[in-house]
Amino acid sequence: MLPAKQNANRVDNDVFAQYESNVQSYARVFPQIFMRALGSEMWDVNGRRYLDFLSGAGSLNFGHNNPVLKQALIDYIVQDGITHSLDLHTSAKAQFLEAMQEIVLRPRGLDYVVQFTGPTGTNSVEAALKIARKATGRTNIVYFTNGFHGVSLGALSVTGNEFYRRAAGVPLPNAISMPYDGHLGDGVDTIDHLDRALSDPFNGIELPAAVILEVVQGEGGLNTVSIEWLRRLEELCNKKGIVLIIDDIQAGCGRTGSFFSFEPAGINPDIVTLSKSLSGYGLPCAVVLLKRPLDVWEPGQHNGTFRGNNHAFITATAMLNHYWRTTEFAESVVEKGSYLSNRLQSLVDCFSPHLIEVRGRGMMIGVVCADPKRASAITSNAFEQGLVIERSGAEDEVIKCMMPLTTSCPELDEGVDILARVIAEELGVRTLRSRKAVSTRSGHDLELQV
Ligand SMILES: *Cc1c(COP(=O)(O)O)cnc(C)c1O
Repeated sequence: MLPAKQNANRVDNDVFAQYESNVQSYARVFPQIFMRALGSEMWDVNGRRYLDFLSGAGSLNFGHNNPVLKQALIDYIVQDGITHSLDLHTSAKAQFLEAMQEIVLRPRGLDYVVQFTGPTGTNSVEAALKIARKATGRTNIVYFTNGFHGVSLGALSVTGNEFYRRAAGVPLPNAISMPYDGHLGDGVDTIDHLDRALSDPFNGIELPAAVILEVVQGEGGLNTVSIEWLRRLEELCNKKGIVLIIDDIQAGCGRTGSFFSFEPAGINPDIVTLSKSLSGYGLPCAVVLLKRPLDVWEPGQHNGTFRGNNHAFITATAMLNHYWRTTEFAESVVEKGSYLSNRLQSLVDCFSPHLIEVRGRGMMIGVVCADPKRASAITSNAFEQGLVIERSGAEDEVIKCMMPLTTSCPELDEGVDILARVIAEELGVRTLRSRKAVSTRSGHDLELQV
């Protein structure tokens, strides 16, 4: 239920400015006090409704307070099910492990053991890097331009973003940056570049322990690698005995139209990191999936107090059972993704050269703006119109659509219509041509002044 007005007024707007650290970021872009959320909708303390095209940066793939997962969680709590368990064996964890094997891994021909790490994405990346170093006895990790892997020191050392790196306060060694697919322009295959860098004994690069990458770069601007590129990377890693780590923290759990982002390439990564939408419910949960020969840990050698969030295991298991036993859900993501992509493409066609292209895959796509300031104005104005949507990329130039995968078609249209309207307003293109292109698909007229 929405709060009584009187209740809402008790929230002091200044409390965050006064008492919370300056480090806040999303809160500055969306300066309201939120109170309630369901599916793809959020409400602030004044009862105003918003559509959520951010969904916890991809942590809410199954929507806010998903009713199926919520019921499983409520039932478990009512029965006094274990909440916190370090790494003790619990029935909730057993169910999750079984569901993961039976529903996700076995049907895809993937044989991994599961390491539960601390509950954040960066925790699982730290563990993955340690495993690769311990298993190979080497130190270097290759990462790619525009990659983002978290902000603790190890994960940060393989993250390209200078703004985040500067905050480390110490050098970030033992990591080598290489160009992502497409980074050196259309004519250059960056796998050739990587192969040469690793093969030439005169270039001073020691053989790395691992290569880490995102198949679709969430924070780095929705760049993607081609299937061919990914296959060649796997081949190169196999040839040289380098551990291939796919960071599927953001692109995994269905976001790109398959459970794992790398599935279309048919590769078999050595290690996969998962977090964000893994619990399905926005509860903290992270794992490393690793091939058995890489399970080189001695008992207790890597630990963490919050490795046993049983509430997350309950909702994760419910998520796997409900959405992943058949292909129906994944197909709906592909369908909605391509609908969204078409609508965004029509905006690009209309507002080129201010809008450059549509990027990404599945329901992890966005529009690249020529001028990052314009992207900023567009997302701010969208928020005024009741749409929560963020940007990504080196200069925050990409408007990124990350609505829950469960978003209904009318909601999808509603959000894209808002976006189309604010883009049209911001770019000030008020021609018949734009009117025609912008008002296609959803059938809603954008009331552009001609
Ligand atoms: C968000 C993210 C991380 C870090 O996860 P946190 O929970 O924020 O520590 C790592 N890798 C990728 C690809 C991410 O999107």
